[in-house]
Amino acid sequence: MASEDRTQDYNDDLKRMSNKLGIPTPQSIETPITETSQLSQILSGWGNRIKDTFGILDEETKLMSEKRLLHCNVCYMRTGNTCDPRKKMKDNATGEIVTGCGCNISAKSMSPHSSCPLNKWDK
Ligand code: SF4
Repeated sequence: MASEDRTQDYNDDLKRMSNKLGIPTPQSIETPITETSQLSQILSGWGNRIKDTFGILDEETKLMSEKRLLHCNVCYMRTGNTCDPRKKMKDNATGEIVTGCGCNISAKSMSPHSSCPLNKWDK
């Protein structure tokens, strides 16, 4: 699909592309209004990570990721590119001892509805 044919609404994209190709429109894809499940957050993060690789990630998500990575890059919980589940630290806001989430940091930082276990990221 050419970039000028893409929108953020997959159902609109499907409709326009099927009209262009002269074929029946496929059944709609229902997308959740909010990304609340862990699976959707993971898929969203990796999807955006792939978009970034191809240079088609939107500026807003890029900026959000860059701000989050400023915290991750100096965080004790980080091991390589992972928020290390073997490490524990006190959440200064809640006083709770938390472990790393085990996520790939570069992908997670691009998932809008994900959060930092230590609440270091902006809401
Ligand atoms: S997500 Fe939070 S806890 Fe994990 S490495 Fe980043 S700043 Fe640290």
